[in-house]
Amino acid sequence: MSSSSLQQSIARWVDPGIRTLSTYSVPDATGLIKLDAMENPYHWPEPLIDEWLFRLRRVHLNRYPDPAARQLAATLRKVMGVPDSAAVLLGNGSDELIQIIAQTLAGSSRCLMAPEPGFVMYRMIAIFTRMEYQGIPLREDFSLDLPAMLTAIEQHQPAVIFLAYPNNPTGNLFDEQQICRIVEASPGVVVVDEAYHAFAQASFMDRLLDHENLLVMRTVSKLGLAGLRLGLLAGAQAWIEEFDKVRLPYNINTLTQASANFALQHHKMLDEQTARIRTDRDRLMNDMCLIEEITVYPSRANFILFRVTRSQGNQVFNALLKQGFLVKNLNNAGGALSDCLRVTIGTPQENQGFIETLSGVISKI
Ligand SMILES: *Cc1c(COP(=O)(O)O)cnc(C)c1O
Repeated sequence: MSSSSLQQSIARWVDPGIRTLSTYSVPDATGLIKLDAMENPYHWPEPLIDEWLFRLRRVHLNRYPDPAARQLAATLRKVMGVPDSAAVLLGNGSDELIQIIAQTLAGSSRCLMAPEPGFVMYRMIAIFTRMEYQGIPLREDFSLDLPAMLTAIEQHQPAVIFLAYPNNPTGNLFDEQQICRIVEASPGVVVVDEAYHAFAQASFMDRLLDHENLLVMRTVSKLGLAGLRLGLLAGAQAWIEEFDKVRLPYNINTLTQASANFALQHHKMLDEQTARIRTDRDRLMNDMCLIEEITVYPSRANFILFRVTRSQGNQVFNALLKQGFLVKNLNNAGGALSDCLRVTIGTPQENQGFIETLSGVISKI
């Protein structure tokens, strides 16, 4: 096949929405201090690692995993405080749960709605599943624009709305009462995405009992188990049953089931780590606020969004990179995020190195 006929073939058969996308790119962090992906910087104490490896010896990889991951689901329900009357669905990361929800609800001109700036996978997955995506701008302080949301709900009748609580990449918690208004006004389901629950200490889990169209999503990634790929969706049994039909069998592999179950049985250790990260976040926030040239946004997550002087976003990002600090550059997203960077909370030593480097970089520009 000649390359022009190959291109024609691709143009003919690959959905235009997908052709315009680029692959989700993850920069190589080799040799860098990695403060770009909201990972917990701490590993486990040695005795616990030994105990975990001992458990793994008894895992049989020749067999398929437990299709319903019963033990793990029971542990998750307990640790995450899922109400007894709610059902749960586990996903290969919460990204997979977003995909399962979209695949279940997709159809011609079905709408998936989310506030913007927000988590990019909502829009991407809407494109993958041929849903119509509606991004509704947040206000300038990144709070919800409730009137705009209510008007958009009325107009587009979304099958699903995603609300990240706290929001990524802005870090703030939306107003609780406003979220309730959105849930009440929505003809479809509303997913409150609590990926940063460990750092926010606020949740809609208890409100599942009040609203049948409310779903709460969690992940163990930001908590400290990003390598396992495990998310949880909780909600009314009848909704979860429908989503469960779309889930591929054995989506939670045996090693993840055994390891997550083990780690969550020792969740005190993770709780101590996340408490430490919250304290260090508040300290870093105070230090960053002392740098006059930047705007720092309040955070209830394990990252901080900040804006540098106009049109210097890329310059500051590259200068940080050159000195060994990898943060997330949001400048290319443009609009409300122009000249914005997002730094994940690391160890106290990493945070100290970051703040010193940032001050130095800013003072030289
Ligand atoms: C990181 C993140 C996720 C994805 O989590 P995984 O479980 O690792 O797939 C989902 N939602 C938000 C808002 C996130 O920031």
